[in-house]
This record gives sequence, structure tokens and C-alpha cells, in this order.
Amino acid sequence: MSQLMNNEALFQEALTHFPGGVSSPVRAFKSVGGTPKFFKRAWDAWFEDEDGKTYVDLCMSWGPLILGHANADILAAVNEAMQEGLTFGAPSRREVALARRIKAMVPHVEKMRFVSSGTEAVMSALRAARGFTKRDRILKFEGCYHGHSDALLVKAGSGLATFGEPTSAGVPKGFADLTVVVSLDDPEGLEQAFAKYGAELAAAIIEPIPANNGLLLQDLSFLKQLRELCTKHGTVLIFDEVISGFRVAPGGAAEIYGITPDMVTFGKIIGGGMPVGLYGGRKDIMGVVSPDGPVYQAGTLSGNPVAMAAGLATLERLTPAVYSNLNTQAERWAKAFEQIPGLHAPHMGSLIWPLFQSGVKRADRVESGAILQFNKMHKLLLDHGVYLPPSGYEVAFLSTAHGEQEFAHFEKGIQAVKGAFSA
Ligand SMILES: *Cc1c(COP(=O)(O)O)cnc(C)c1O
Repeated sequence: MSQLMNNEALFQEALTHFPGGVSSPVRAFKSVGGTPKFFKRAWDAWFEDEDGKTYVDLCMSWGPLILGHANADILAAVNEAMQEGLTFGAPSRREVALARRIKAMVPHVEKMRFVSSGTEAVMSALRAARGFTKRDRILKFEGCYHGHSDALLVKAGSGLATFGEPTSAGVPKGFADLTVVVSLDDPEGLEQAFAKYGAELAAAIIEPIPANNGLLLQDLSFLKQLRELCTKHGTVLIFDEVISGFRVAPGGAAEIYGITPDMVTFGKIIGGGMPVGLYGGRKDIMGVVSPDGPVYQAGTLSGNPVAMAAGLATLERLTPAVYSNLNTQAERWAKAFEQIPGLHAPHMGSLIWPLFQSGVKRADRVESGAILQFNKMHKLLLDHGVYLPPSGYEVAFLSTAHGEQEFAHFEKGIQAVKGAFSA
């Protein structure tokens, strides 16, 4: 009989199986230190680890779980779909129903294709944009994350408005050469990049609410400038709303800012906890996608009926009232965070970025001292049963399941740790 394995024992074995003991690097506690928590089971806004300790979860699987863990309605929908078959490799009614719901929430999605992750959605959107414009170069912003495909694991090279350099080994320099990298919150750099490369740019991609390097909220004028430059140069504007989509408003950041991109990518919430991604947008651009057009893109499990059921059950419950409640909650949780001396908690929708610094709009402006303070807070809050994403560069996520009881538990944790910090 195998003995029940606790957290540490599982991690020690995991280290023998997986690089860093994890299936995705952000799960390792490399930046905050310590051993990653192995989740045993999770419900609402809570989880229990393999040591039997319970936590209020502020990571929420990095975003998909806007209705909380193991939501009963989603589980019922998944169960029903499951009984009818796990995968067909053929069209089914659930993908049509989910597409209908998406169009009702996000009117600028005229045509779409389901894929299985955010990475895949972005990769495919770029290919469609390149096929449509018959151009090769793309433009991205430093500090925006778009998944791990080659062309996007790229940071700014030395000098303004130049080609990028790989941020990962294994990415050929040739791929990075096709990616122009611009700083966020830099209107002049953006202008220059388009002046130089505009005619060669197939697409410009941005997280309109950059939430993968902290929460680097941009000025509306900057996003408008990007929209105008793309229109002027015939460059496809792609909003990567894998995090912000269905999180900040029914129509995502596009709705909040009143800016319509040419294409959009979704992931996370759209699958309600199952692996789903989507790219879509203008129907003339999507017209290049196979089998209608020459851009090839396919997937054995794309439009998977069980995943579609989870996505649909989620989106059907996301009414305007849900967003206004979530936003009110976020306000309250952010305020509670700010009882810790020196901590600021900017937020947008139910995304909150607790950082010991304020007013950051660019990736290169995050100070290492602020991250060190975060690491200290992470550990202290963990001891008090509050689980934050294990990096100061990550945002915290609320869900509709973060209610009074959860807030009281969180607030107690804050009170317990705040004495350890000085402004
Ligand atoms: C999470 C994320 C991705 C990658 O999605 P995966 O499903 O992890 O591949 C891409 N873009 C943004 C903005 C994201 O937040």
C-alpha cells in the first residue's frame, strides 16, 4: 500500500520527473522561494494542499476560474457533455452555441476558430494576419506576454525601434529578426517603429490591459495611437485578450477602451477551466484561414465538446451585474492590501497587482526592491492561508466565489503580516 504523500515528498519525486518539478515554469516557487503547494482539491475560492492545509486562492489557475473552483453549474454542464462523448473530431452543436454566445458578448468577432490554448490562439492569429497582408514582420510590446511561440519570446534589442532578441534559448535569431519590439507607454518609440517598418508590418499585437508583467495599465491615448497607426499602415491590430477577455467586461478591454481591434485572441475564461483558446475578428481576415483560404491551421481536439460545454456554462453566467459586483469586490480587496505599509494595489476589473511601488506603466520600471518585498509578503501570507501567484510580476485574480467569508480570512491575514513592513 502506498503511503499518502505530502507536499514535500510529491515535490521531491516531481523533481525526478519534470524540469523544476513542474509542468509550467510559473508554478515553481523559484522567485519567492520554498516548495510549490500541491493542490489536492479546490472549491469556490479555496483549496487544500497535500499537507491538508487550506488557503484562500488569489491565483485561481491564472485566470480561467472567474466563477470559482469546481463551480457546480460548470461541472453539471461538463458531466452532461462528457456522457455524450469526450471528443468527436467532427463538428458538434456545442461549438456553435459557444460561438453564438461569444458574438453576443464581443460584437467585433465576426468569424472565429477554436484552438486549445492561448499560445496557439496567438500563433494562429499572427499566421492569419501574415497570410492576409502578405507581410512578414510583426510588432510587439516589451512586457506583454503572448504565449511561448517562437516569434513572441522576444525582447527589445539594443537601440530604439529595432528588431528583437530571443528571450529564450532555442529561439532562432531569424525569428526574432521578424519581430519589432517597442516599449509600452512610449508614444514616440511607437511612432518611430511605424515610420521605419510600417509598410512591412503584418500585425501589431498588444495586451490592451497588460497583465503578465504586473498590471501595466496604459493611457487611452497610447492605445488610440496604436489603432490609428495600424489603420494608416494597413497593419492588422491584434488585441491579445487571453487574460482580459471576459474578465474586465463582457466585451473585454476593447469595450472598456472603446477601441475595435481587427483581430482578438481569447483563452483562459473562455474555456471555464478546460483547455480552450480562440482567435477571430474581421471576416475578411478570417477568410484566409483554411479551408476557406490558404492559411493552414488545424487541431485534433479543437472545439472539443466537453471544453465547449465548460466555456458556454461560464460565459452564460457572465452578466453585466456579475462584472459590477466583481469590480466592487476588487476595490475592497485592493484597499485591504493597501493596509500593508508601502504596498500599492492597482486594479482593473478583478485583476489586482500588489506591488511595493506605484504608477508603473513599463516593464523596465519595476524595481527589484519592490519584488523582494513582494517575496517576503508572499511567504508571510502563505503562512496565514492566503495564496498569491508565486511572483511579484503576476497579478492576483478574484472570482465570484470570493465573498464575505473569504474576505474576512484574507483581511485577517493582512492584519497579521502588516507589522512586518514599513512604508
Ligand atoms: C496566458 C496568456 C497567454 C498564453 O495562454 P496559454 O493558454 O497559457 O498558452 C497568451 N496571452 C496572454 C495575454 C495570456 O495572459
